[in-house]
Amino acid sequence: MKHIRYSPLLDQYSKPDPILREIKEVVTRGDYTLGAEVLEFEKLFAKSSNRVHAIGVGSGTDALKIPLRAAGIGYGDEVITTANSFWAVVGAITEVGAYPVLIDVGSDMQMDPDLLEQAITPKTKAIVPVHLAGNVSKMKPIMDVAKSTGLHVFEDGCQSQGAIRDGKQVGSWGDATAFSMHPLKILNIWGDGGVVVTDNTELDDRIRVLRNHGLRNRDSMECFGYNSRLDTVQAVVGKYILGSLEWILNKRRENAKTYINGLTGINEVSFQDIDENVSSSYLYFVIFVKDREKLKAFCEKNGVEVKVHYPTPLYRQKALQDIGYKDVQFKNADVQSERGLSLPVDQHLIEEDIKYVTSVIKEFYGGKT
Ligand SMILES: *Cc1c(COP(=O)(O)O)cnc(C)c1O
Repeated sequence: MKHIRYSPLLDQYSKPDPILREIKEVVTRGDYTLGAEVLEFEKLFAKSSNRVHAIGVGSGTDALKIPLRAAGIGYGDEVITTANSFWAVVGAITEVGAYPVLIDVGSDMQMDPDLLEQAITPKTKAIVPVHLAGNVSKMKPIMDVAKSTGLHVFEDGCQSQGAIRDGKQVGSWGDATAFSMHPLKILNIWGDGGVVVTDNTELDDRIRVLRNHGLRNRDSMECFGYNSRLDTVQAVVGKYILGSLEWILNKRRENAKTYINGLTGINEVSFQDIDENVSSSYLYFVIFVKDREKLKAFCEKNGVEVKVHYPTPLYRQKALQDIGYKDVQFKNADVQSERGLSLPVDQHLIEEDIKYVTSVIKEFYGGKT
């Protein structure tokens, strides 16, 4: 029996020597905090995302939180985001003191722009579209609403680095965009780290001050900030993996195509809706299926590791129930967490692996393999 693992981590850094050599240099210089490699990495990252500024911070969560703070969002303010998605989004919003106003998603798993206007109140300050599972939110209508109402937009690009809509990369629309380099993201380093990108020079300046205790320079503290810097050692790893971004994206897209070809026509299986003008980065390859739990067990019995993102939608978590989401229902978020299944799709899997996973799913639904 084949074994198709879900996480690429062991393959990804199977030859770490070039990175370790460069880290040794950092250690020799003792240049651990905001060292030369951080600046180098930031420049490369800005270029790769086609933005003017990139700022390395401690995590993807901080890459959301610090721009919110930098834009002056805090107590008494509301920030609109989605009802499914990852804990960090509401974590970042509540950490600056604001209230997360959740709205439902469409069949693409992204913010439904038609629900935006009715969620806006006099307290609303920003919209945080979460580009989920490698897909890209419908940014045109979201930006139209933001422009006509004067709201900030902060994109959460943590799951969709390198994804494209209408020829523009994730990170092209908002005031600023957050990326994560956590080991389970597209660009993964050896621990926690995040990056903010922006074209706004004033915002860039404030984020740089905020990530380093609010310090303007060594001795003057301009405001209350955070200790949230990207480690020099992690910037070395980031530089290295950034060079593989195109390859990573291409392989993931190839694997996704193999899934789509193989699984099309199975009545019990449907795909995450991805608009024609979108090129997903496929952090996850999500299908929606009948008898999800049984299929999941069958995959595991046949050596295929699969995941569910997320078995309990964000808004049904206790933390959210406690702040006012007890008596509401977000239908699409519910359906997607009940039926969604993420298949292994990363860059280190080959066509034969994907075809094996496909054959297991076909066998489960009684088709010929
Ligand atoms: C991972 C993730 C984050 C947070 O990133 P960390 O680096 O883990 O703090 C934020 N938003 C989304 C959608 C994520 O998937």
